[in-house]
Amino acid sequence: MNIGILGGGQLGKMLAKAAYSLGHNCIIFDPETDCCASQICEHYCFEFSNFPKLAEFSQKVDVITYEFEHLPIETLLFLKDLNIIRPSINALSTTQDRLKEKSLFKELGIPTVDYSAVSSFEDLTKIADTFTYPFLLKSRFGGYDGKGQIEVKSSSDLEIAWDFFNDKRLIAEKKVTFDREVSMVSSRNKDGNVMFYDLCENAHADGILRHTFNKAFDTVSEKAIAYNKLLLEHLDYIGTLTVEFFCIGETLVANEYAPRVHNSGHWTIEGAAVSQFENHIRAVSDMPLGNAKSLGNSLMVNLIGELPKNIAVEENQSFYFHSYGKTPNKGRKLGHITIHSHLKIDPITCHESILAT
Ligand code: ADP
Ligand code: MG
Repeated sequence: MNIGILGGGQLGKMLAKAAYSLGHNCIIFDPETDCCASQICEHYCFEFSNFPKLAEFSQKVDVITYEFEHLPIETLLFLKDLNIIRPSINALSTTQDRLKEKSLFKELGIPTVDYSAVSSFEDLTKIADTFTYPFLLKSRFGGYDGKGQIEVKSSSDLEIAWDFFNDKRLIAEKKVTFDREVSMVSSRNKDGNVMFYDLCENAHADGILRHTFNKAFDTVSEKAIAYNKLLLEHLDYIGTLTVEFFCIGETLVANEYAPRVHNSGHWTIEGAAVSQFENHIRAVSDMPLGNAKSLGNSLMVNLIGELPKNIAVEENQSFYFHSYGKTPNKGRKLGHITIHSHLKIDPITCHESILAT
């Protein structure tokens, strides 16, 4: 099968690798000349607004999927008339707007943070009276890796926060004091079969994921599975879907969902029987899903800004190095390492020892 992928970043590259292993062929569509997936795939290098080229691309593939959620909706609406798009445009457009996304959580009975739409300075001052400081002000559209949001610490920050955004379609969110951040990566195919990976426990700094490890047994896993199921069914979802949660004691509060493969699922390449990438491709190409069972303990560490020269691991651990082939830049995700062991891994110590080399 010929699979078209909108977006050619590292997620597109890892999706393409999985697709080739299954005997498929991939073509990516991305305006960046040196995007990572172009290292291994045929590349349509045009703007997402180039409709003649989108039409040509569409004719060359049997199904279209995407690897990032900030695609212009006009691009998808245009493609929808020409080809099959999986996951659906509805799954994508809902998560593109943080307000719609949170309303959907609410509608499905999935707990989420207290929030309120903000579209004027008056709205913001009103919210500031009802929310306690600090709270978060986020752009409804286009944020990623902690970009497009600002913490409002006191009333003296209100004007700075307001001026921070060009697009004034905003959402204010109460700041959650959580014990942990976790995510549930799941896949669903056309027949409604679903697979759930181990719960992922995630560490962020400055809004960017730093590391993730799998929890084969966790007291909140069943809850996370139940919440993912609600979304998967409601969206009649086809592909891999991840929900990010704040965990407060035994309570899960949904933060956001990603209608695509997710950074917290990278450990599944070596750490699960079938990876999130392969299951996404299996789902969108109408193949039966593979087993999501984990194979031991895995820790995935993101390589941000620079790549380490050496990697030191314990004798009982193996490591798998992934470089995305990107030009180093501060704050840029350049690759990741997965550490795998049959013994328990202490994520903080292990992460620190990798960075120390
Ligand atoms: P992005 O789309 O950039 O991933 P998120 O909403 O997931 O945006 O925010 C990035 C990180 O910022 C989260 O993983 C979390 O660590 C922190 N964060 C975001 N929203 C809240 C909140 N309402 N309360 C507490 N922390 C938050
Ligand atoms: Mg997030």
